[in-house]
Amino acid sequence: MQKVDWDWENLGFQYRRLPFRYLSVHKDGEWHEGGLTTDSTLHISEASTALHYGQNCFEGMKAYQCKDGSVNLFRPDQNAKRLKASCERLMMPAFPEDKFVEAVKEVVNANAKYIPPYGTGATLYIRPLVIGVGDTIGVSPAPEYIFTIFATPVGSYFKGGIKPANFWITDYDRAAPKGTGAAKVGGNYGGSLIPGTEAKKRNFADAVYLDPATHSKIEEVGSANFFGITKDNRFATPLSPSILPSITKYSLLYLAKHKLGLETSEEPVYLDQLDEFKEVGACGTAAVITPVGGMQYHDKFIEFYSETEVGPVTQKLYDLLVGIQFGDVEGPEGWIQKVPITEA
Ligand SMILES: *Cc1c(COP(=O)(O)O)cnc(C)c1O
Repeated sequence: MQKVDWDWENLGFQYRRLPFRYLSVHKDGEWHEGGLTTDSTLHISEASTALHYGQNCFEGMKAYQCKDGSVNLFRPDQNAKRLKASCERLMMPAFPEDKFVEAVKEVVNANAKYIPPYGTGATLYIRPLVIGVGDTIGVSPAPEYIFTIFATPVGSYFKGGIKPANFWITDYDRAAPKGTGAAKVGGNYGGSLIPGTEAKKRNFADAVYLDPATHSKIEEVGSANFFGITKDNRFATPLSPSILPSITKYSLLYLAKHKLGLETSEEPVYLDQLDEFKEVGACGTAAVITPVGGMQYHDKFIEFYSETEVGPVTQKLYDLLVGIQFGDVEGPEGWIQKVPITEA
């Protein structure tokens, strides 16, 4: 495969328009035959529910180029399942799960020249989304929907190796307990722009949200899930109906238990008991595993393992996860799906 000549080491996390994306339309009660298109502009009604009423949801996943040149998807069936759940929460028709995975593979194959080479740490980020379109003015589900998947190469989250970041615990809420926190919907993100920007202005990597009902428990770390290693070596992660069920988080729960032999639990993580954790991390497709050096809450700074060094358990989990994703380590049955690359 002849790659384009790009500066793979310095891609950052930016949108770069690639030649192909997938598009399918839901009309008259069914998803119509979808396919690849070169048109990167969506032509939609000004009265689309996606624009007015937040009837939209999305996914985030990556394609990884392996040492042998093959291309991996990491648990794409889980993204298909979660997209379906997000669609159902917003009364949108779900895109068939098997077709979802096939469509992702088509997009990756069609843009194969742009999959960052093995060893650069860079990946092909994949963004599937579903939006309500058509002419609607009242608050009701849309008459039509678009499912589309585009991809864009992104740089390694860590230039020059994995290193800790500090986070800022915000007083803003992300999602309500019976709201849409557990769904990957656009509406959860508009409100996160102020806390996210305020955190960055103060030189923190992102905002951390507390549970909206009591403001006493950790929910999420920006757009990543929280996990910690307790002083008695348990892998613990918050249990809450308003956090987004991260595929990375569930993968780490499995790896911590079955590969590292740790006890694991999903449990409330109290703000005033954070000193029980010797290591803390943020995890997600984009963030991979970001070790958390410390967190600022009002005028108090809580430091974890180190602001400069990575804790040993966090490092092991990172090596396992990233090793599986890039095909250097054998993963559990079914976690990796190869993308057939036919584009010369
Ligand atoms: C997507 C997302 C995550 C991470 O989920 P992964 O499946 O691990 O990528 C975490 N929190 C929020 C709010 C998200 O939208």
